[in-house]
Amino acid sequence: MTEAASKFDPMALALAEAAKAAAVGEVPVGAVLVEGASGKVLASAHNRVEELADPTAHAEMLAIRAAAGRLGLKRLTGADLYVTLEPCPMCATAISFARLRRLYFGAYDPKGGGVDHGPRIFQQPTCHHRPEVIGGLRESEAGLLLRGFFEARRKDRAREMERDSAIHCRDMEAWTWER
Ligand SMILES: [Zn+2]
Repeated sequence: MTEAASKFDPMALALAEAAKAAAVGEVPVGAVLVEGASGKVLASAHNRVEELADPTAHAEMLAIRAAAGRLGLKRLTGADLYVTLEPCPMCATAISFARLRRLYFGAYDPKGGGVDHGPRIFQQPTCHHRPEVIGGLRESEAGLLLRGFFEARRKDRAREMERDSAIHCRDMEAWTWER
């Protein structure tokens, strides 16, 4: 085994998945499911909400579905999930349903998160399985990807609005001139 392989870092793979999402215009979130004991990758995924027109196609949901489907198991006991952003309430619930052993996440999400923020799913009495949670793993890298993505999107929107208003003004001029 090479040194690189022996030092395999699942969060690096999750960050690479997040970068893939950004490249195709998806919110850059990546997730990797690993068999805790062996470190074997069970599934990796990135957000595909836009591509699949599926509001539930978050990286975590896709990774859990892929691994459970491939293994033919409804519970992934002993598996650890690495995700670049604090999971939302939907994904946190799916993590609990899947009985994952551990959740590692990168950036915190005060607006949309459901683990350390919002409904704090794992702390609810209705939550029957609480994974061990380690937040803030390579947080700055995950955050940088997200910030870069949203900044670019804001700039695109501003440019679009500028273009719209320019078109509108030209139409107005044409209309005035025709009269
Ligand atoms: Zn989610």
